[in-house]
Amino acid sequence: MLTAQQAIDHLLSHAQTVTESEEVKTQAALGRILAENVNSLVDVPPLDNTAMDGYAVRIADVHVPGAILRIAQRIPAGSIGTQLEPSTAARIFTGAPVPSGADAIVMQEDCTLPEGQVEQVQINVTPAVGQWIRRKGEDLTAGKTALVAGTFLRPQELGVAASAGLTHLSVKRRVRVAAFFTGDELALPGEPLKPGGIYNSNRDTLLACLKSLGCDATDLGIVPDRLDATRQALRQASKGHDLIITSGGVSVGEEDHIKPAVTAEGRLDLWQIAIKPGKPLAFGAVRKSDKPEDGEAWFIGLPGNPVSSFVTFLLFVRPFILKLQGRDVIAPQSYPMRADFDWLKADRRNEFLRVKINSQGGLDLFPNQSSGVLTSASWGDGLVDCPPGEAIKAGDMVKYIPFSALLS
Ligand code: AMP
Ligand code: MG
Repeated sequence: MLTAQQAIDHLLSHAQTVTESEEVKTQAALGRILAENVNSLVDVPPLDNTAMDGYAVRIADVHVPGAILRIAQRIPAGSIGTQLEPSTAARIFTGAPVPSGADAIVMQEDCTLPEGQVEQVQINVTPAVGQWIRRKGEDLTAGKTALVAGTFLRPQELGVAASAGLTHLSVKRRVRVAAFFTGDELALPGEPLKPGGIYNSNRDTLLACLKSLGCDATDLGIVPDRLDATRQALRQASKGHDLIITSGGVSVGEEDHIKPAVTAEGRLDLWQIAIKPGKPLAFGAVRKSDKPEDGEAWFIGLPGNPVSSFVTFLLFVRPFILKLQGRDVIAPQSYPMRADFDWLKADRRNEFLRVKINSQGGLDLFPNQSSGVLTSASWGDGLVDCPPGEAIKAGDMVKYIPFSALLS
């Protein structure tokens, strides 16, 4: 049996980052992976400017509180003032460039306008040099790196790219993944369920996981539990895709055809991974044609149980895809958190428990941890990574991985 980390390391040692990239509009780049470093076209901010509505002053004029200055100019955002002469102040508004000669901003709340003296302001404080001044280039410097290749683009990165002046970004092409779902018992929602039938939930879970990671996903539907049908689906899936994922049929029972089908169409390792839920996982590759130069599509076969396929996707398929995408960070962020539950039956396997953060800042456990109970995952907001042979007692610190860290 492999540990989860051994399985991940093995997968990562095979995955090779896609080389093709494309130009997309900055505002269309959400969820994409930056292919090249982005250098800023401009200084941000472009000039020293004020962080407050108030008055630009010369420190030399306001050594004692109560100094009275003449208001010699007015500078709204978007316009440039003139040299600030001694004993004068400039009325100034947030974002407006600080006029030359000024070395501090006094916010308007710290000033009074002497009665009947429309052109004068009384400064009631003694500001420090640089107070409320945002320095030119303190956010980004022209010509310097604003975003690095391999970054997963979130809303804030799109904003940084826009502030750097970029209309377009070079991003990795999307990873292309085909998925099919094995099982004679499966039906699609909307279809009648025959006796013994169940709805195919893995389709919606896994296709949505792929979309969350920014993949192009192709749904090849339900494939019956027959060797020829499974081989046919694999041949179809290999065309035009980097990776094939499947659910179900990875055990070695008579009704499990993944292993012989992938072996016939390419090559396969069937792994037993010491995790729960999960355990069997198939990893291999499927030939794209009879010609070796046409290459292969990677293959990962997940177990059929809905929680098992979801968790094994997050633990094993996600890092593989992130490596294909060329992402800079692959391991999901985890946090030490307090367990507010007992989990006393320590398992020989590394367990991934469905939990939820409670209002006391601890973790609650979903009562039914069966690998068939998918509501455990929708109730929960993450997983506790419980090492093999370790029980958990209420109050213990545990390793918590939020689903949000596993779905992006
Ligand atoms: P298998 O891995 O094929 O032995 O399936 C294990 C369990 O998962 C069985 O109870 C299947 O009915 C169930 N299962 C397999 N595929 C799916 C699916 N796509 N959606 C929901 N349940 C499934
Ligand atoms: Mg099956």
